[in-house]
Amino acid sequence: MTTVRQMFALQELDIILDRVQNERTKAETELNNGDSVGMLESQLERDSERLQESETQRQTTRLEAETQKERSETLNTQLYGGEVSNPRDLESLEREANNVRQLVEKHENTLIEITVRIDDAHHKRSELESKLNEARAAWQIRQSELQAAIKALNEECSGFESQRSKLTEVLDPTSLQHYETLRKSKGGLAVAKVERGLCQGCRMSLPTHQQQSVRSGRQTVLCSSCGRILFLS
Ligand SMILES: [Zn+2]
Repeated sequence: MTTVRQMFALQELDIILDRVQNERTKAETELNNGDSVGMLESQLERDSERLQESETQRQTTRLEAETQKERSETLNTQLYGGEVSNPRDLESLEREANNVRQLVEKHENTLIEITVRIDDAHHKRSELESKLNEARAAWQIRQSELQAAIKALNEECSGFESQRSKLTEVLDPTSLQHYETLRKSKGGLAVAKVERGLCQGCRMSLPTHQQQSVRSGRQTVLCSSCGRILFLS
């Protein structure tokens, strides 16, 4: 016959087993997706793409500025070379030369802005690269730690599992089924200790006759409040 003591021992083992399994799941989860390396890598990739775009933009602006500068020189030569003497032509030439000068200035300002942006981006990139190297080294260490921990937890688990099968072998199937069902529905606690007349599962005071039945140990007594199997150590 299954005694409450055996079920209590099984529960103690199951509590430990749950803890070990939880720890293992936590370690496995961290090992599978807990690193910051991937995040830094994609950030670096995004930043590099943006930097590439800025470099292209700088190249285009530089070419444009040079073209406009050449045009400005040509216009200046026409303007001061004495070839154009008609006042109206001179006036329109001057207006055009002014426009082009403004364009050159605008492009040069843009060039300065882009260059500052590129310098910043280079600086940020090298910072990110050294961060990434540090993260890679740290992750390598953490990975080995986690792998070792998982290995140890696996061994611990199999140890407890074989202890558990030895225990359940001697329990009668009906009691075991009752225990399993209660454990699932009662937050992992199927067997509750009785201390100072209180069920330690729900903290309710037990009627005297119930306490006496538990004490006699002749049958399985369930708490009248929470339904757990009562155990007097
Ligand atoms: Zn209770």
